[in-house]
Amino acid sequence: MKKSIPIKQAFDVLEGFIADIEAPVVEFVARQDNDPFKILIATILSSRTNDVITTRVISRLFERVTNLKDLESIDQEELKDLIYPVGFYRQKTVQLKKLPYVISVKFAGTIPSEIDDLVMLPGVGRKTANLVRNTAFGKPAICVDVHVHRITNRWGYVNTKNPLETELELRAKLPVEYWSKVNHYLVSLGQTVCKPRNPKCPECALTGLCPKLV
Ligand code: SF4
Repeated sequence: MKKSIPIKQAFDVLEGFIADIEAPVVEFVARQDNDPFKILIATILSSRTNDVITTRVISRLFERVTNLKDLESIDQEELKDLIYPVGFYRQKTVQLKKLPYVISVKFAGTIPSEIDDLVMLPGVGRKTANLVRNTAFGKPAICVDVHVHRITNRWGYVNTKNPLETELELRAKLPVEYWSKVNHYLVSLGQTVCKPRNPKCPECALTGLCPKLV
């Protein structure tokens, strides 16, 4: 049988590890201002964009746009210039401009918190929906991105082919107390140590626990 990481010990170790690492940008926004609008926008913009660029862009954007009304009224060209150079900024501009209308018509002007509702919003996929549900509303959700998918498979904790399978397997076996932490912890680990290529196993805090090394 394939070896799997002891999950409680792993999270205990990672708790100390992430204390020295800057929080991912969406977590940072949530700590500053727990506003579902800002968290939703920051999450959409952070997709396929590194945190340095996302942080710069959202600081600039939130000086001009702070709610759905501002987003509705801002000129599309101005919005595009404000969010440049996040990944897919042209596509995201169009999606952001559609948000106020969709939220108004489908959700009476209130940002929803359920996954099935969130994924109906333009620019919101399952990963974004889970992150918003958890970060903005404090509801249990597992946000699986490339880091969570890759690392939980390296740990032997799941055995899956894509992020959706990973989310479903984690929902079935990961203790709920870790649901809100797993994305933050594994994004931090994945960006610094457990990288997609050439993970730095000899200097990893999980050496001795991770079956990749055992
Ligand atoms: S860097 Fe290596 S030891 Fe650390 S979690 Fe990744 S695969 Fe495991």
